[in-house]
Amino acid sequence: MVVIGGGMAGASVAAELAGLGAQVLLLERETQPGYHTTGRSAALYTVAYGPPVIRALSRASGVTFKAPGDSQRPHPLLRPRGAVFLARADQRDALDRLAHELGDAVAPLATARAQDMLPLLRSGYLAGALIDHGAADIDVEALLRQYLRQLSAAGGTMRCGAMVTGLSREGGSWRIALPDGDLRAEIVVNAAGAWADHLAAMAGVAGIGLMPKRRTAALVSPPEGMQPDAWPMAVDVDEQFYIKPDAGKLLVSPADETLSDPCDAQPEELDVAIGIDRVQQAFDLPVRRIDHKWAGLRSFVADKCPVAGQAPDAPGFFWLAGQGGYGIQSAPALARWTAAAVLGRPAPTDIQDEGVTAAALSPSRQALTA
Ligand SMILES: Cc1cc2nc3c(=O)[nH]c(=O)nc-3n(C[C@H](O)[C@H](O)[C@H](O)COP(=O)(O)OP(=O)(O)OC[C@H]3O[C@@H](n4cnc5c(N)ncnc54)[C@H](O)[C@@H]3O)c2cc1C
Repeated sequence: MVVIGGGMAGASVAAELAGLGAQVLLLERETQPGYHTTGRSAALYTVAYGPPVIRALSRASGVTFKAPGDSQRPHPLLRPRGAVFLARADQRDALDRLAHELGDAVAPLATARAQDMLPLLRSGYLAGALIDHGAADIDVEALLRQYLRQLSAAGGTMRCGAMVTGLSREGGSWRIALPDGDLRAEIVVNAAGAWADHLAAMAGVAGIGLMPKRRTAALVSPPEGMQPDAWPMAVDVDEQFYIKPDAGKLLVSPADETLSDPCDAQPEELDVAIGIDRVQQAFDLPVRRIDHKWAGLRSFVADKCPVAGQAPDAPGFFWLAGQGGYGIQSAPALARWTAAAVLGRPAPTDIQDEGVTAAALSPSRQALTA
């Protein structure tokens, strides 16, 4: 079988499929895996973010993230970070709603304590806060490499520089056109990120209404003499900005969601400026220069839940798309779930026990066409 897309989704499902005995070829159009959205994330693991099915998938992914390392991956995949949700006086209702929605994934945080944890916070800004003690930084590169090693150890192959340019169903299997010739496979898994609907259109399969949305990030230096590494991430309760320590610097984002065609997303000056401005309203953070900036596409369907499973209109065509802004933290469970579906096996019970249902992820669900 062929998996299209060498980001976190494709690498993880390819590894799981190969581990279950399937013969797997992973195709990536770029010269390296993880070049697009996977290499551009904020790398946070939190069970307090996203719709319920994402939170359930992320909880079920904890077992992979917390697994001990080995000689090839000596460091843990997670590093404790913590995440604080910030609310001004006019955002108190939003904070109450979030506390209610997230239940015991978060705890109230006294404003004085938040001020201690986030020393740049402007005095008088904060009226209320919540903390997610379990939020952690993900070593995204290590996770991606781990899946690619698992794929290869189980006999699977990855080909980079392999852009799929055509897909057609012929004589009970798929013909996959590549620049250097055609392949055939009984099963195709579409893990092409922002391009997933394009791949479907190529194959004559109905799309899922995927909306790639650009999100911008910039790295700036902390004030002289300050070491932010132990600070938690801080997120505006209405998700208008966030700020996160990143290897001695501070990652700031306006949490933008600008609709885009699938592409090699680039940051717009204006979005960077908006991000800095919003952060500076809450934090006393002078910014003299931007050390680095980037953008990536977070791809959503209408209900913001992932799409995983067989296309209702095409035998042997499986979706693994629409992970939005949560596709790293949910990848381990989503990959196990999708691999079982592809091979016609029962859904993993530990993932079901967290509350994930086939209906919530189904490519046939009504929310996709509503
Ligand atoms: C700024 C930002 C912050 C984020 N923060 C977080 C976070 O903190 N935590 C979290 O869990 N998630 C986060 N995300 C979301 C996460 O990064 C994505 O959900 C995840 O990376 C999606 O992985 P993917 O494999 O589906 O997509 P991608 O990584 O984009 O992979 C898809 C691949 O398919 C390939 N492809 C496309 N078309 C073809 C073709 N025709 N032939 C061959 N290959 C093809 C592409 O080249 C690409 O490499 C963030 C995203 C952004 C942009």
